[in-house]
Order: sequence, then C-alpha cells, then structure tokens
Amino acid sequence: MKTIGYAAESVNAPLAPFHFERRKLRADDVAIEILYCGVCHSDLHNVRNDWGMAAFPLVPGHEIVGRVIEVGPNVQRYKMGDNVAVGCLVDSCQTCEQCEQGHEQYCRNGFTMTYASPDPISGGMTYGGYSRHIVVREKFVLSVPAGLDLARAAPILCAGITTFSPLRTWGVTAGSRVAVIGLGGLGHMAVKLANAMGAKVTVISRSADKQDAAKMLGAEQLLAASDSSAMQQAAASFDLIIDTVPVKHDINPYLPLLDVDGTLVLVGQLGPLEEPLTMPMIFGRRRIAGSLIGGLPETQEVLDFCATHNILPECEMIRMDEINAAFERLAAGDISRRFVIDMASLQDY
Ligand SMILES: [Zn+2]
Ligand SMILES: [Zn+2]
Repeated sequence: MKTIGYAAESVNAPLAPFHFERRKLRADDVAIEILYCGVCHSDLHNVRNDWGMAAFPLVPGHEIVGRVIEVGPNVQRYKMGDNVAVGCLVDSCQTCEQCEQGHEQYCRNGFTMTYASPDPISGGMTYGGYSRHIVVREKFVLSVPAGLDLARAAPILCAGITTFSPLRTWGVTAGSRVAVIGLGGLGHMAVKLANAMGAKVTVISRSADKQDAAKMLGAEQLLAASDSSAMQQAAASFDLIIDTVPVKHDINPYLPLLDVDGTLVLVGQLGPLEEPLTMPMIFGRRRIAGSLIGGLPETQEVLDFCATHNILPECEMIRMDEINAAFERLAAGDISRRFVIDMASLQDY
C-alpha cells in the first residue's frame, strides 16, 4: 500500500514529506487510515537520536487514532469503519511469560516499536504514525470506546498509558497521596488520571506559575521546587511520586518528600540522572523505580477508563507541515498540552 508521511532523513534534519509503502495485508493484519497522531517528546528525542536507537529515514509517531479501512481474513475483533488506536508497540513474541500476561512492553524476546524498530515481518525499520496509513497486527490494535473524542484521544496511547500503568502498579486509590513532577504531556495526564482514581494530587513544578493550570487539571495544590520552606514542610507526605521530566535532572530534592515505603517512579528520562543520594532511601525505605508504557490489555483499560471518567488530554491541533515549529516549541518547553497532528492536512500531497 502506497502512503505518505513525514520523515527526518537524517539526525536533526527537519521533517519533510516522505513517500513509502506499507506492507501487504497479512491474514491477521488491520489496515488503518490515520486520522490523528499525538506528538510525544520521544519523537523529538529520536529525531535527535538522543537515545542512540534512531534509524533514518525516521517517521515518528506512536499515539495513533484512526479508522479501519481493510482487515485480513483472520481478523476477529475489527471491521471496516471501526475507530481504532495504535500505541508504542506493534509486535512482540507472544510466547514468553511476559507476553502471556499481557506485559508485551517487557517481552523477553524484544518487542517491535511502532517506529524506528527492526521490523521482523517486512524487514527494514518500522515507520510510525506521522503518516496517512498504517498496517498493524490485530493483537496490537486497540479499540477506541464510543464517546471518546477521536480528535483528543491520541495522547492517551503514550502519555496516558505511561502514567496510568505506574498509578495501577503502585495501587493508587481513593486517598492516595500522589505527586507529579512536570506538567507537560505525561504530567498533565498523570494529574487527570490520579485525580479520577480519587487520589490527592500535588503538582511539583520549578515555580508557582503553573498553579492555576495544575488546579484546573484536578490537582489540590502546586508545590514549587524553588520554595525551600514549602519543600521542607512537604517532607514525608507522598506515597507515590511520578517523575515525568524527560531530561537529565536531580531527584535528590524529591526523595525526602516520600513517606516511608514511598516510591519515586521515573517515566520520562531514559539515561543518566544527577547522582542520587542514598541517605533518604535508606532512612525511610524509599524506592526509586522506573516504568515503561504498558501492555496491550492495560492500554485498552486506560482508553476505557478515560471514556468512563470523561478524561481527555489537553490538545493543541496542528497541521502536518507545522511539525518542525511544534518540535521547536516542545524543545523549549513552550507547551503545557499535547500537540496532535490532524492527518487530514496530509491530503494536500
Ligand atoms: Zn511517547
Ligand atoms: Zn514475549
């Protein structure tokens, strides 16, 4: 299937129109016309090859919402016209015990990412959602529940599941004390999801200027990391801290904010941190953990959860040809919402 997308031809190159082919439909494949694709900070990381795992030409995008246009003969769950979604994964071994438990993101034999990942079926590398069409194995296609606004659902596929999974893993429930560091794509979803679970949510930000935004999203309060007396007063007051900062940073100011047995979960930064001090960990049995997106069942769960609780990401819709400017704003931290590309804007090519 011939299609069009936007690709970076080399490291740091601006994204530009790119014609390529999607694989021929296999028996268990679903062909999707992409309607919307979210812009994740990791798209920018990969175009810059910050993590050393990019491959060029690179078509980013792993927050995909679209409509089924064709299904293979063995496809059971979807038919033409269904509203569907694809997240960060498009394949895994399906036989290891992690896959069997629905934790495909921890597949023992290596999963296939939606883009810039070696494609075990077609060969070459996978191309992501900054494109008109995608072909994905049925197992890795998610259903968009009725009632969820298609134009705003895309960021749930990465920002949503990345924060939902640790909230579930660490048992957040009514009355849990949750802090969220950062209020970008991941952070703002963490606030909304934790709030819907009944948690008492605090946003931790460098300064107090995001106070109103934090409260509007459902946080009880904002804690300014620059306010040392407020930070001292907040010692030992959280069960869980979700750290969404996507660059190297210092977690030492945050560890003492955890109560005994509390956990700080890293979901944004892949790579080094400033050296952590062990004292607050040992004096308080506090933990530092990480968490990677979520498996297919949990990703379906967060989509359904968002539909039930009427949670939608805060989106700023852009045209495909505005992506380079959007990347610049993302790099500058000049957005407290998620960019979503309206793929109808690709029709002009
Ligand atoms: Zn992402
Ligand atoms: Zn596996």
